[in-house]
Amino acid sequence: MSAAPLPARRAGVVGWPVGHSLSPTLHRAWIAAAGLDADYGAFAVSPEEAARALTSLPESGLVGVNVTVPHKAAALAVAHDATGRAKRIGAANLLTVDAQGRVHADNTDALGFLDGLMRAGADAAGPVVVLGAGGAARAVTAAIADAGCDDVRLVNRTRARADELADLAQGLGMGAAAYDWAGASAALAGARLLVNATSLGMAGAPPLPSLELSRLAEDAAVYDLVYVPRETALLTAARLQGLTAIEGLDMLIGQARPSFEAFFNSAPPESVDARALLTGAAPSHASVALAGEPRMMTVGLTGSIGMGKSTAARMFADAGVPVFDADAVVHELYAPGGAGAAAIAEAFPAARAADGGVDRAALRTIVQADPQAFRRLEAVVHPLVARERREFLARARRRGVDLVVLDIPLLFETGGEEGMDAVVVVSASPEVQRRRVLGRPGMTPDALDAILARQVPDAVKRASADYVIDTSGSLLGTRLQIARILRSLRRRAQWRRAGPRPERGAA
Ligand code: NAP
Repeated sequence: MSAAPLPARRAGVVGWPVGHSLSPTLHRAWIAAAGLDADYGAFAVSPEEAARALTSLPESGLVGVNVTVPHKAAALAVAHDATGRAKRIGAANLLTVDAQGRVHADNTDALGFLDGLMRAGADAAGPVVVLGAGGAARAVTAAIADAGCDDVRLVNRTRARADELADLAQGLGMGAAAYDWAGASAALAGARLLVNATSLGMAGAPPLPSLELSRLAEDAAVYDLVYVPRETALLTAARLQGLTAIEGLDMLIGQARPSFEAFFNSAPPESVDARALLTGAAPSHASVALAGEPRMMTVGLTGSIGMGKSTAARMFADAGVPVFDADAVVHELYAPGGAGAAAIAEAFPAARAADGGVDRAALRTIVQADPQAFRRLEAVVHPLVARERREFLARARRRGVDLVVLDIPLLFETGGEEGMDAVVVVSASPEVQRRRVLGRPGMTPDALDAILARQVPDAVKRASADYVIDTSGSLLGTRLQIARILRSLRRRAQWRRAGPRPERGAA
């Protein structure tokens, strides 16, 4: 098994917040299926930092980024050049960096919108009603102009913005009329496509006011750009009316395809069922920063039994990184006088040791035989470990530390990867793992198999990791991998903090 170098091509999504973004899940699945030496992350950049962070993209080591709310206009502004499409829309959701360090802007939202439309067998011949006049509505307006629409009706709460968009639409060769919400019903009459490009109906936003869908043409399609929830009230109403319903997820996937090609010079593999993947996907490795709070990267470190996690944790600590060792914390809690000893003795009297601490062997026997007991133990221990962890993080923040490592043995098994900025998995070949574990006193092949059966398989952990440390080789080799990972993490952290403005060329 070879050591794990940094991925050759790295990209990501920039937004505020960005933890909800489904893009990392999708791009990583495509990367894995295509067998690419690449990665795709999520970067939380606040509105105050956006211009400087995006301007310093060429120094980030990334080949490009997708840009989401609320930075799409800023993305266009920092680029050295932009496609006509992005200029027409006035916003960019894709920035790529060329070999000369020049930043190119594009807008693939329009392409994604058309992709969803075509996959549903619908067209944009018109009349088309667009609800909203923000960035998404502009992308839709440009897309339907490209697709041959000649009649667009723009409905928006703020009438002046609908008027502005109508001007843009007319400039693109379409007949356009602007309405406020009071005029929505009139706008719907005979329309063959209705698009919700407002944020109404989105989880956490107010509902979309009910619309007289019966006024639409009989063969009309209703396209909701909102994709959380996937089945919006508007789409359900459209289905009940017998109309074609098109989900926002289709546009999301459609905009990601050309982005993937631009980043990785490779088409997204058809073998990935993107829709099925995203339907069940929850955001992971979320890096949502709180406004005004200095960023400290939290890096989860994990690995199966015998993989060398403790060695790797020690090496991170040697490199000056504060390490939270969940196992050591549990040991301390169980020690005589420890914060957990009394609570555990009360819950499990048979596990009280003579010295007042916890008899770990007795406790293990109790909980292995009884799942209820295991849950009771977790209910006692988890809050105590969580408190220690909060205090550890608070201390590190007070010290102005840029990066901490949280060494958590069952990170994936407990869903602990949520909220980590990055996850490092320590791994080794199965042969090396068995040799190490079976060398431990009292360990048998059956006992090892039983432990492994309870853990997330190593291959899955590796596939879910941002970085993999392979400890099959020498200690020096492991140390070098850790140094490389730290350099990469710090570049990411620095870039997120909006690095210095780079020297720009003549453009
Ligand atoms: P935006 O620029 O902030 O525009 C928001 C729009 O919603 C504006 O027209 C705004 O009207 C309207 N709106 C917001 N709150 C409202 C309220 N309470 N009552 C009436 N109208 C209200 O956002 P955006 O970037 O265009 O995104 C709009 C939606 O499209 C979001 O839900 C986003 O998630 C979705 N989207 C989906 C995809 C995809 O791939 N599926 C891609 C891009 C966007 P005013 O002008 O009056 O403020």
